Amino acid sequence: MLNADLNEQMQQIYGEMEEDYRRVATQLQFSCDGCSDNCCDSWFQHHTFIEWAYLWRGFRQLPEEKQAEILERSHRYCAECEKALGSDKRPQAMCPLNDHGRCVLYAYRLMVCRTHGVPATMQRPDGQRLNFPGCFRCQELVKEYYGSDKGEVPQAERTLLLRRLAMLENDLLDGKRRLYPRLQLTIAQMLVEGPPMLPKHHCERGGDRIKGKGAQEDVGRRLPGKL
Ligand code: SF4
Ligand code: SF4
Repeated sequence: MLNADLNEQMQQIYGEMEEDYRRVATQLQFSCDGCSDNCCDSWFQHHTFIEWAYLWRGFRQLPEEKQAEILERSHRYCAECEKALGSDKRPQAMCPLNDHGRCVLYAYRLMVCRTHGVPATMQRPDGQRLNFPGCFRCQELVKEYYGSDKGEVPQAERTLLLRRLAMLENDLLDGKRRLYPRLQLTIAQMLVEGPPMLPKHHCERGGDRIKGKGAQEDVGRRLPGKL
């Protein structure tokens, strides 16, 4: 489990993400109500140990039968995605945390789940600015309201929040974030793998490639007090 301090900071960052999302959604009079799509079947990978740990904080609070049910769905999800990727297709499968259209771990959902929808912008560390147009439905709305006048379109600003998330990840990794390989896991994989275990970072591995759980080491042992 994340310690109280990291947990509180995660709550703050996620809360501010939601607030910024709400600000833009309100300005655009945009909501997911009545949408024929459900973004929870989109294939996304996630990249931080801290979000993974936070997700597990929520998962552990579910009744055991519910956890077992979700884990079973997660295994099926992973198999489905593997099959699609093996045929060079982008996977499309319902997130195992989606129960009849609702997110079982809404308060613990990851950053991508909180930010997808409205237009957003962020500046990368190299100074390049990236713009995200929002989901297809929001893009239609923007086109209707603003036409080609993109300069007026309200946008969520992700730069500072992402920077804070990266700093928190670095705290969790004892200031050695850059020494670790980048995570690329779906939510289903995060559940199937269990709570995060940190692989040894590059300097400790002597150049070995990291594959699966066998090469991993318990965060709790390596970073006492953080989890
Ligand atoms: S984010 Fe957009 S596409 Fe996804 S459910 Fe909401 S309105 Fe629909
Ligand atoms: S975690 Fe929740 S919001 Fe995110 S994709 Fe899964 S069901 Fe949807």
